[in-house]
Amino acid sequence: MILRVALPVPINQLFDYLPPNITEITPHAGMRVRVRFGPRLMIGLIVDVVQESDYPTDKLKAAIELLDKESLIDSDLLNLGGWAARYYQHPIGDALLNLLPLFARKEADLSLPTEEYWKVCTGASLDALPKHAIKQRGLLSLLTDTGTPCSLTSLRDSGFERTQINALIEKQLIELCSPPETNSDTRSTQPSSSFFDLSSEQNNAVEQINLSQGFKAFLLAGVTGSGKTEVYFRAIEKQLNAGKQALVLVPEIGLTPQLMARFQARFSCPILCMHSGMSDRARYQAWFAAKSGHAKILIGTRSSIFVPLKDPGILLIDEEHDSSLKQQDGFRYHARDLALVRAKQLQIPIVLGSATPSLESLSNAQAGRYQLLELTQRAGGASAPTLKLLDIRHEPLDSGLAADTLSAIRSHLSAGNQALVFINRRGFSPSLVCRSCGSPVDCLRCDAHMTLHRKPPRLHCHHCDRQTPIPKACHLCGSADFHPSGSGTERIEGRLTELFANVPVHRVDRDSTHSRTAFDRLMTEVNKGEPCILVGTQMLAKGHHFPAVTLVCIINADAGLFSADFRGMERMAQLTLQVAGRAGRENRPGTVLLQTQNADHPLLQTLLDQGYMEFAAEELTSRRLAGLPPYTHQAIIQAEAKKQGWAEAYLMRIRQYLDQLQQPELMLSGPFPNQMEKRAGFFRAQLILTTVNRQRLQQVLTELRRWIDTDTERSRVRSWIDVDPIDSY
Ligand code: ADP
Ligand code: ZN
Ligand code: ZN
Repeated sequence: MILRVALPVPINQLFDYLPPNITEITPHAGMRVRVRFGPRLMIGLIVDVVQESDYPTDKLKAAIELLDKESLIDSDLLNLGGWAARYYQHPIGDALLNLLPLFARKEADLSLPTEEYWKVCTGASLDALPKHAIKQRGLLSLLTDTGTPCSLTSLRDSGFERTQINALIEKQLIELCSPPETNSDTRSTQPSSSFFDLSSEQNNAVEQINLSQGFKAFLLAGVTGSGKTEVYFRAIEKQLNAGKQALVLVPEIGLTPQLMARFQARFSCPILCMHSGMSDRARYQAWFAAKSGHAKILIGTRSSIFVPLKDPGILLIDEEHDSSLKQQDGFRYHARDLALVRAKQLQIPIVLGSATPSLESLSNAQAGRYQLLELTQRAGGASAPTLKLLDIRHEPLDSGLAADTLSAIRSHLSAGNQALVFINRRGFSPSLVCRSCGSPVDCLRCDAHMTLHRKPPRLHCHHCDRQTPIPKACHLCGSADFHPSGSGTERIEGRLTELFANVPVHRVDRDSTHSRTAFDRLMTEVNKGEPCILVGTQMLAKGHHFPAVTLVCIINADAGLFSADFRGMERMAQLTLQVAGRAGRENRPGTVLLQTQNADHPLLQTLLDQGYMEFAAEELTSRRLAGLPPYTHQAIIQAEAKKQGWAEAYLMRIRQYLDQLQQPELMLSGPFPNQMEKRAGFFRAQLILTTVNRQRLQQVLTELRRWIDTDTERSRVRSWIDVDPIDSY
């Protein structure tokens, strides 16, 4: 008997081992095994148990031990992982190990300590705690407000530590208790009709999904606030009633406590989530709950596409256009595309939802591969926000803000509402420029300006993360006279605080929002509805529900309009509408102002006057005429090296190899340096392969990779293949 094992190494092959010398367990595919690989011990995954090896049996080493008594991964998932490794040209062993949660890749022992649960002692009150014991008070309020026992893990996820728990035990305010009753009878889900009547569009969508049998893909294109979530709920409900599970994929930024709360309010079955903010162990617990069938609904970010499900019923992807569904380093898979493969494999329906569907999905709908379900109206009587272009070509700006923008903010605030100011740049200003010679301070390691931050004061390169103090003098001319050029969130926040001294201004970006808990607290505060101004980046744009926001101002609507990436327009339109969708989601009508230098840009006009679907149709036409994705398929060979020219020279070698394969269907462009050639000290170049024939592309890439693996010139260049790239680099 020979074990074929996947190991986390950058070599595209599996490794053969003999079973451990002493073992009572029969090895099976999907179990983990500890092996020696060179000088190192590794945890690997058995992919197959076979009778013969290509190597002489007496040369094979025995595995050290089997780590599991039963398979963690079934053959369907192993097949999916194998498919993904081939499709995305990633080393097979590393790809297959991605099927395991990180905890299981690191820890041999997967037994979980029994979870502790805590509750409030009868009679305990906040008065027993001093005012300054903020954390302890927070913990006690949380437990009091929740009303049911809370697990240690959930308390930790909310930012509390053992020390605060101990302090409260000592004061006899909280005590250990047994876990809350989990209601595993999913049939007790409340009949949803008791909430509200579906609109006819919603009703049609639900019917189409719920009547489908076996595999079927749906594209649910519903404007923001149209009640897509309600459609997901009814589709999930049907599966729960049949004893099945639902897997919901969301973008990282979209997995908000608000979303969890909506699911929890709606369903009484166990719902688990999985995202990067959780500990490895907590993620493993969720993974295990899905595998064992305990979790009926799993809501997770992209890597959840690999979670085993005991009784899979339906897959849903919210914000299917979101780029965070594609992994951008290492194993470069797209979770949406893998979800389709998986749904087909499992013969279950899949729903892709978005207010601004990707052009890929829209073209699939056009081609009849997905069924398009449209929700064109906002739900429950809310009206669509009014979008207005603000021509700023001849306007003096105050820290980036036009006079009309400021007066709109003023009038919305005085009507008792909230305003949201969106700018996709954090920091104080995107560059610091010498007044006397005009040169900006650049990053030494990147072809990029350093961003000026004031809180705390520093220069920060957003591409390589390098941080430096603010220079005393210009290194070119010696002048000490600098001025910040352009505006980021900090500058706008500062100016608005001066101008609107009597309302709070909250900044939301990666710098201001260090923890999830701080962010959640701010959201709760904002949703009390008192007038305030929110200033932020796309962290604000997605998934959140701000009932009192009636005005959204987009400060740099032009970013993306003239991007070198052909996807620039699509991105711009998606982001604009996502941000705009934050306005007026309840009974108060919303207004959206877009500051632009290009008020007469035809695509901007189409987007505003006729909406996203019309805009997308026009974009699709130009993509087709230009022979661009989604009408063709691409792969990028990306290379980087310490010296300028090396990466390009290496890609030239690859190009020559590809040229001699003589593939008339394959179009090669490049090699050329990346848009930002130097980044984090590396000089980068790329070669783009475009073709209409996906299978040919796969064959060529597979041959190419074999050639690269044996090529001797590659040592000074790092290179990788990105299949179906979603960005030029
Ligand atoms: P989307 O996900 O499409 O942006 P949501 O699902 O968040 O929209 O719905 C927006 C709001 O409308 C929510 O508060 C939701 O409860 C409500 N809603 C959804 N469907 C209906 C309906 N048929 N009637 C009334 N309100 C609805
Ligand atoms: Zn200077
Ligand atoms: Zn840099």
